[in-house]
Amino acid sequence: MKYLTEFRDGELAKKLFVEIASLVTRTWTLMEVCGGQTHSIIRNGIDQLLPRQIQLIHGPGCPVCVTPVEQIDRALAIAALPKVTFCSFGDMLRVPGSHGDLFQVKSQGGDVRVVYSPLDAVKLARENPNSEIVFFAIGFETTAPANAMAVYQAKRLGLKNFSLLVSHVLVPPAMEAILNAPENSVQGFLAAGHVCSVMGYHQYPQLAKRFRVPIVITGFEPLDLLEGIRRAVLQLEAGQAFVENTYPRVVSLEGNRPAQDRIAEVFELTDRIWRGMGWIPKSGWRLREEYRGFDAEWKFELPDLPVVADTVCRSGEILRGTLKPNRCPAFGNSCTPRTPLGATMVSSEGACAAYFNYGRLIDLNLKSVPEVETASCPA
Ligand code: SF4
Repeated sequence: MKYLTEFRDGELAKKLFVEIASLVTRTWTLMEVCGGQTHSIIRNGIDQLLPRQIQLIHGPGCPVCVTPVEQIDRALAIAALPKVTFCSFGDMLRVPGSHGDLFQVKSQGGDVRVVYSPLDAVKLARENPNSEIVFFAIGFETTAPANAMAVYQAKRLGLKNFSLLVSHVLVPPAMEAILNAPENSVQGFLAAGHVCSVMGYHQYPQLAKRFRVPIVITGFEPLDLLEGIRRAVLQLEAGQAFVENTYPRVVSLEGNRPAQDRIAEVFELTDRIWRGMGWIPKSGWRLREEYRGFDAEWKFELPDLPVVADTVCRSGEILRGTLKPNRCPAFGNSCTPRTPLGATMVSSEGACAAYFNYGRLIDLNLKSVPEVETASCPA
């Protein structure tokens, strides 16, 4: 298939592995930002075939995973209200909040539905004028254009019974927070090509310069990732730090201007809490004042809900890249994709799910199996 098959060529991959191995003179730690990149790396065994000096750590770029418990709790509270139809992408239904998940609300009589687009929720609002239709608008820059379009359409149609529970987050502020963290070990980034396809990459050169980290924009196929790793290692070995775009078939410097315009019309910057990373200033979007009537938090006037801290799941450390999934004591024992204890095992983009689904049940670097019993989080 064009644009896929040629980026999965095994012979070319072998050459890239050999070339990368010939470049490396010391250890380097790279972070792939996006959960889609993580899944491709693990599925194709790229991390295991690289020279041992190159460590790949998995970044926070899984939208379901970084949605904080606070916002899940708000979703549960709204979904349980009478005359509310709560719409969400499927992954979110199993993400645990402080007191259960959306599946449990559904089993207790709440009208919770899986939709495939926010425009499905707009359609529901048109067809059900006596119900309040709420869409859980999570995600990065990639999902924001469709959510902005849904609100824009709802306003144009004069719908008063449609709203978004917004939990949008942005990639560049998260990269900056990772680099500023005292425990940071990231020396270079493989930036997410799909995010840059929407937003361009004009924000990255100042990050690369300020923190002296190479930032290489990649796609998601094995050769895309290997070329990104090769370019990052070339820069690191040469003592350089700049932005490179290895995904020009999709990404341009300026990005998708019409999508950016729609986002800018509907959303404005705000501070956000990230699961595992806490408050990050100006790291998300919320609805502008003109669209306040479509903001579910404003419409339903929820009180502050006390968050119950999770004492077992260590997905915060997974998302910060400080813990590998198969070093979590619960991994593969009490926590599996069928019995997930945290968002990084629920989501199809989560690092814990990737490790489980592709058989990384033990950490080969540790040469031992994880503990059998699940203990409380020692962190
Ligand atoms: S394996 Fe399960 S409990 Fe451990 S960090 Fe991942 S999601 Fe949380």
